[in-house]
Amino acid sequence: MSTETLEFQAEARQLLQLMVHSIYSNKDIFLRELISNASDALDKRRLAGLTDDRLKADDPHIALEADKDARTLTVRDNGIGMTRDDVVGLIGTIARSGTAETLRRMKENAESAELIGQFGVGFYSVFMVADKVTLVTRKAGEDTGVRWESDGGGTYTIETVEDVPEGTAVTVHLRPADEEDALHDYADEWKIREIVKRYSDFIAFPIRMGDDTLNSMKALWARPRSEVQDEEYREFYRHISHDWTDPLETIRMRAEGTFEYEALLFLPARAPHDLFQRDARHGVQLYVKRVFIMADTRELLPSHLRFVKGVVDAADLSLNISREILQQDRHIQLIRRRLAKKVLSTVKDLMTNDTDKYRTFWREFGPVVKEGLLAPGEDHKAILDIASFATTAGDEPTTLADYVSRMKDGQDKIYFMTGESRAQVENSPHLEAFRAKGYEVLLLTDPVDEIWVEAVRDHDGKEFQSVARGTVDLPADEADEELSEERSGAYAPLLTWLGETLDAVKDVRLTTRLTSSPACLVSDADGIPPALEKMYKAMGQ
Ligand code: ADP
Ligand code: MG
Repeated sequence: MSTETLEFQAEARQLLQLMVHSIYSNKDIFLRELISNASDALDKRRLAGLTDDRLKADDPHIALEADKDARTLTVRDNGIGMTRDDVVGLIGTIARSGTAETLRRMKENAESAELIGQFGVGFYSVFMVADKVTLVTRKAGEDTGVRWESDGGGTYTIETVEDVPEGTAVTVHLRPADEEDALHDYADEWKIREIVKRYSDFIAFPIRMGDDTLNSMKALWARPRSEVQDEEYREFYRHISHDWTDPLETIRMRAEGTFEYEALLFLPARAPHDLFQRDARHGVQLYVKRVFIMADTRELLPSHLRFVKGVVDAADLSLNISREILQQDRHIQLIRRRLAKKVLSTVKDLMTNDTDKYRTFWREFGPVVKEGLLAPGEDHKAILDIASFATTAGDEPTTLADYVSRMKDGQDKIYFMTGESRAQVENSPHLEAFRAKGYEVLLLTDPVDEIWVEAVRDHDGKEFQSVARGTVDLPADEADEELSEERSGAYAPLLTWLGETLDAVKDVRLTTRLTSSPACLVSDADGIPPALEKMYKAMGQ
């Protein structure tokens, strides 16, 4: 069979360069990445085996083989394997959009050092420790296999091979030992044991070296809380999220009774790049009795909590459960409501107990959580309870409760103004009278704000009132009233003339709202707000 030499895709080459020059101080993680891939491949094969008996693996496991003299380490799995096209597409390119996006930003920005820490590097991290990598694989159910090899430069070779077992074996040719590497001898059995224990203990398939199984395979969510170390949660979070930043908060839940489930959820510390893309993945995986069933389980959390990562392990579902069935399942709907409540109440706890964490959370995810205010049947009060908003009353965002506690005597509404940026809103003539009279106004500048303020009328009995719409009755003092009577008479002819001359406006009124601008445009109390108008237009309506 002939050997072909192919080039890595441009982004892949850049990432490889970073790996070869070891951007991470912790090289141990290459092994965790290889094991994680092997575990994913075993999950995939198990799922395929449910519908096609011939694809079932006997004794699914991961084997590690170290050769100190040859300085090699092989990670072997009998998982799903890859076809030639798979290898070219998956190993020769960077498919994950987040990684390509991070690389692009790293090139544009000086903040690279910070960004580097943020991305999961996957397979390529092996080039931190290898001067050559050989991957031999055969897709389950296929006849021939593939051999791939690269030294981490711009190219790799690929050829068809016979007589290889189903699954994948990655052989790492370790770089020559130097002084530093004496500490990082990845062909050393004890070193390998230590790394597996630290990073991959929870992997659900046995990881074997010789006859020994190195990992406990215990699902974290099934172990008593007091026994699980924070570091173990962090590792598990990395495994399921590919996010290298530690999670902000870990949530554990357990329900017993007619429908049992356990959940282990994480609030990330930063928003992923694709959060607002249509096909953004949801973060919750579904397990049934410790067995992985599916990722991206949208049925388990509402879409305004799609950034939450974690696992739900339900005891009473069938292993063959499909998405269609999940969507209809009453118990799943119940779990979804409970998880959503728990996430919101956890954030509420952060608000009182850890302001810094709360602020980080709301900065990163507030715009998404507020989408929940648009969905009927969701818990609007719980969302507004944990919301905070920029305000004319200072630089720090305020909660609604704090806003209400500062309301002036006689004020019965929560005043807000929407717009595209804080600067734009703050310079708006609409704010003048409110400012002048000492009323606090919330400054709402997320795109979703224009829409939810239409959907949600009030919070805790206090109505929301836009300062830019209709007639706003600021409690007037007497001087104001006299002035306005006098003025209505004097200005009546001008108003009539303006109303007839300006086609684009519906009405022209005198106002006490402005103090220094001569005029401003307001929308009708029942009119469509500008943002919605824009959105509808974009949708072609
Ligand atoms: P990720 O695991 O985040 O997708 P990786 O760089 O680790 O990214 O792996 C890229 C892809 O290569 C995987 O998604 C998978 O499809 C494929 N792959 C890697 N290792 C294996 C393996 N041992 N068996 C089967 N497929 C694999
Ligand atoms: Mg991976």
